[in-house]
Amino acid sequence: MNQEFDYIIAGAGASGLSLALYMLEEPALKNKQILILDKNAKNSNDRTWCFWQKEKSPFDQILHASWNELFFHSPVFSKVLEIQPYHYKMLRSRDFYRFCFRKIKESKNITFVQEEIQEINDDGTVICESQTFKGSFVFNSAFVAIPKTEGKYHLLQHFKGWFIKSEKPVFDPKRPVLMDFRIDQKGDCRFMYVLPKNEYQALVEYTIFSANLLQEEEYEFALEKHCLEELKLESYEIEETEYGVIPMTNEPIPKKQSGCVINIGTAGGHTKASTGYTFAFIQKKCRKIASNLAENKLPLEGLDSKFDKYLLYDSIFLRVLSEKNFPAWRVFSELFEKLPPKTVFDFLDENTDLLTDIRVMNSTHIPTFLKAALKEIF
Ligand SMILES: Cc1cc2nc3c(=O)[nH]c(=O)nc-3n(C[C@H](O)[C@H](O)[C@H](O)COP(=O)(O)OP(=O)(O)OC[C@H]3O[C@@H](n4cnc5c(N)ncnc54)[C@H](O)[C@@H]3O)c2cc1C
Repeated sequence: MNQEFDYIIAGAGASGLSLALYMLEEPALKNKQILILDKNAKNSNDRTWCFWQKEKSPFDQILHASWNELFFHSPVFSKVLEIQPYHYKMLRSRDFYRFCFRKIKESKNITFVQEEIQEINDDGTVICESQTFKGSFVFNSAFVAIPKTEGKYHLLQHFKGWFIKSEKPVFDPKRPVLMDFRIDQKGDCRFMYVLPKNEYQALVEYTIFSANLLQEEEYEFALEKHCLEELKLESYEIEETEYGVIPMTNEPIPKKQSGCVINIGTAGGHTKASTGYTFAFIQKKCRKIASNLAENKLPLEGLDSKFDKYLLYDSIFLRVLSEKNFPAWRVFSELFEKLPPKTVFDFLDENTDLLTDIRVMNSTHIPTFLKAALKEIF
């Protein structure tokens, strides 16, 4: 017999647990029976999230680090980005999981079951190896199915990061580097990212936007070179490593599988196609889903518009990246050179009016972007 719940959250990662927390914040949902399923216990540090954010978040108290300024470097230009009212935040997943599970344990209406899901049916039945559950709504982040349509872009943001501990105090915790393009681009979009937590410890990450992944030793070689030649690290230890691949695609990712099976997180298209940033979008969208449910609306009301101008902007950028007629580092360089950082972040946050969009477009290389825009539209 099926065990019945109001809501089933399939996957206890960034989006599943964020949604659960936003549900807990809604008094109208306090009697709803909620089940969270994940195949893992979620107690390891499997990733570190960084994101810019203006608003307060429930996770501010468990941030690993937070910065008010970021540095940008390209071969022709360097700038300190004063990002107020934004903060650039770093959150370790282990802290996030621990925090969420503490809140879930304290709640009376959420149950966590560690089980591998085999199938989610359109009617809200969730089939696991040893038991079956049924939800009025199922929120899926466990199964990511990105279509592969001809003519769409399927780039990847792939990166390898080292959490470094230096013997000497070499890092300046007030000088995090968002993007350093002064490295060999090898025909792609490649940059280094350096986030110092204190004078001794930093995350150093080699990031690439391209169609194909690299061999493991290529990431390692670039990281080692940057540590020795740019950061002048003499003696250091790699405390932890991180490797990730994030889809950068303009495929229309289905926001739902059926009327009652809603996709969230990467599975629900919460990843910004042009940057790979996902965590802050997950927060906005999951908060909205929870408030919709509290107001007896359909979960995706206000989140499922037919035309999204940012999808078009992202497609144009992905075209420019894919066609490689104009170096990607110059795109970012021009944006940060000509616009206040807040405007760039508002734009990447999908929070701008048409006038601001035009200002942003004006700061790019017009012939390249206009050509790409015309090809995208027609
Ligand atoms: C290493 C890494 C670093 C990243 N860093 C950033 C960053 O700095 N900033 C940013 O904005 N984005 C970042 N991202 C992108 C994105 O924010 C993360 O991938 C984020 O975790 C996506 O959340 P999610 O809920 O969609 O998926 P996940 O967090 O991956 O959660 C999915 C959950 O589903 C579970 N699951 C899968 N299959 C099953 C099954 N069959 N049965 C039961 N459970 C299952 C998994 O165990 C997992 O817990 C990063 C991604 C990676 C991989």
